[in-house]
Amino acid sequence: MSNDALAHPDRIRASHWITVLRRQFPELQAELAPSPHRPGLGRQRGGADRRGPSEPLRLRVSDTVRDITDGVVELEEAVHDRLGLPPTGRGTVEVRLARLAGLLERVEADPSLMRHLLDEVSGMARRCSGTLGDAEPVVRLRGRCPLCASVSLRAFPLRRAVLCINPGCRCPHTACGCHADRAHRHSWPEGEWTELAAGGALVLEEITAALNGGCTVVAVSR
Ligand SMILES: [Zn+2]
Ligand SMILES: [Zn+2]
Repeated sequence: MSNDALAHPDRIRASHWITVLRRQFPELQAELAPSPHRPGLGRQRGGADRRGPSEPLRLRVSDTVRDITDGVVELEEAVHDRLGLPPTGRGTVEVRLARLAGLLERVEADPSLMRHLLDEVSGMARRCSGTLGDAEPVVRLRGRCPLCASVSLRAFPLRRAVLCINPGCRCPHTACGCHADRAHRHSWPEGEWTELAAGGALVLEEITAALNGGCTVVAVSR
């Protein structure tokens, strides 16, 4: 058995990918869950800022969360099986990954098992970061939402719309999508920006600049 300093490169790589996946998976889960405890604030980076009525994106995120959850369970079971360990206990993805990290020294003694683990973990980590990276760019706007008065307006250049990311924000029109379900946010299409700018004390040019890929882009990539 080797210690960490003498670890085989595969073991170092496996440890790296497990760390990456443990860090990114919660971010992926956060893409799905609204943050109800901080209405109006949104999150400083990623997640809520980039959420809007974008069902294809949400479906891709939820598919990835499900596949990685299943993949980690299967991988841990395969490792236990191969090493002759008792069946795995329950645990979240993060807990299971931590347990797997603790088994790497034993896995290393079985090169084909290490290869399998490395393939699986690196594949899941890449998929996780790919899905996170697919999230739409978003630009934070100054000024307040005219509906809820939060500093929660974001411009989404790809869909040419401004959204209020406050999960509790509703406009007065009950037929509007923002009343339909929690995943939807009130949005202002291009034709309503002048009105929006007036109501939220925003500068129309700032909205236009943001939607044309202005320099204040945040949370575009990681
Ligand atoms: Zn609002
Ligand atoms: Zn609305």
